[in-house]
Amino acid sequence: MNLGISATEFVSQAKEGALSVEEFVAKTLDRIKKIDEKIHAFITVDSQNALDKAKAIDKKIKSKEKTGICFGMPISLKDNICTAGLKTTCASKMLENFVAPYDATVTSRLKSEDAIILGKVNLDEFAMGSTTEFSYFGPTKNPWNPEYVPGGSSGGSGASVAALECLASLGSDTGGSVRSPASFCSVVGLKPTYGLISRYGLVSYANSIEQIGPVAKTVEDVAFLLNIISGHDVHDNTTVNHGHVDYVKDIKAGVSGKKIGIISQMIGDGIDKEVASATTSAISKLQDLGAECIPVSLDAVNHSVAAYYTIASAEASSNLSRYDNLRYGFDFSTEGYEFKAFISKARSNFGPEVTRRMLLGAFVLSAGYYGKYYLKAQKVRTMIKAQLDEAFKKVDYLISPTMPILPFKVGEKIDDPLKLYLTDINTVTANLSGIPAISVPFSMSSSGLPIGIQLFANSFQEKELLQAAHALQETSKLPEMSL
Ligand code: GLN
Repeated sequence: MNLGISATEFVSQAKEGALSVEEFVAKTLDRIKKIDEKIHAFITVDSQNALDKAKAIDKKIKSKEKTGICFGMPISLKDNICTAGLKTTCASKMLENFVAPYDATVTSRLKSEDAIILGKVNLDEFAMGSTTEFSYFGPTKNPWNPEYVPGGSSGGSGASVAALECLASLGSDTGGSVRSPASFCSVVGLKPTYGLISRYGLVSYANSIEQIGPVAKTVEDVAFLLNIISGHDVHDNTTVNHGHVDYVKDIKAGVSGKKIGIISQMIGDGIDKEVASATTSAISKLQDLGAECIPVSLDAVNHSVAAYYTIASAEASSNLSRYDNLRYGFDFSTEGYEFKAFISKARSNFGPEVTRRMLLGAFVLSAGYYGKYYLKAQKVRTMIKAQLDEAFKKVDYLISPTMPILPFKVGEKIDDPLKLYLTDINTVTANLSGIPAISVPFSMSSSGLPIGIQLFANSFQEKELLQAAHALQETSKLPEMSL
């Protein structure tokens, strides 16, 4: 049995009865047992429940009972997506033992289509980070070379899919957290349009810019998952009723006759040489397929990282005020403490990056600094959106490398927050503006590390975006995971 098959292949084999779901799940769980100590993608593995579900689904398939369209596909969920009865830790000491009383909308939609949730995967604490090193439970490693970071903050999602520990995963993307690990781990990751997917049951970090997004081996798999998890939700008023779209249908439409804008600000200074040459080669492959590629300048992008960290931290400082050991936390004893000491003791349990963000966020929102920082950042956000609106009058898609540099060594940048923040330079634009963006694995560096290419489309153009991503995916042959 080959654990390297795509989710779509798994579904078609399981549907035909050509594969035992129980055997596939058992083999996947064995693999997790064997290799996850090297990768540390998982925080919680729900083995028994997964096996029981697999058995039940096999039975349904055999007896030709109606089965959900996932047919027992084993998946992982980032550990900031709520699962009733299974811990949701956000990789924080604060929520070390937290069990949500309800399922996130994405969780219940996947369950009702007979996906099997194998477990919950690692992230930077509360999704704040770009490497998955800021997890209370320790870092996740890159399956292509465990000395290197897997990207972040959904590093567990990227690594678990790349290491064949599941067929697909859901992450969350506030500033690049689905696309960064997709790029560093050589898998596909989509940040959908703001409002396409319900955030009900996603633990909030910066809720005006974040979306849940699928991570999988292929673009078809991502489209398949999007069909299940997208759409209006009465529990989340920011979801848009966009009508029914089948993202899988016509995915092979290609890019012939399409116009693609190359974002000048994302391929210039500070970009790794091998990443730059991979991008040039991706562009020429798309041209070979009949697309016209032209340079596009978005100068507001020069301020995007500063604006992103101002807005995201401001929202984080407000969202995370609920972790006070009164409403949420882990130590509810109040004896012997007056209020301030109690709160400050509670909040000293956050890790250094979360603390930094909350302080920064409280600062940029405070009287006297609000206009100077927060308001200015919001103006940059408006400028970015306006420049993108102009660009999309001329082109169908935009292209850039997903990450400006190759995966780097675990620990290499951990003491330099600014260097880490700058790795988000190409991803935050999609979040600040709400548009969709996808990372497609494209090539490997001379040292064997993955390079991903990012494509953007206008809001709610996921169908077209996935078609272009599919075309790009078909141009490259990448090595198989050998771990
Ligand atoms: N790296 C960014 C940050 O640290 C993005 C995180 C995310 O998308 N959740 O905030």
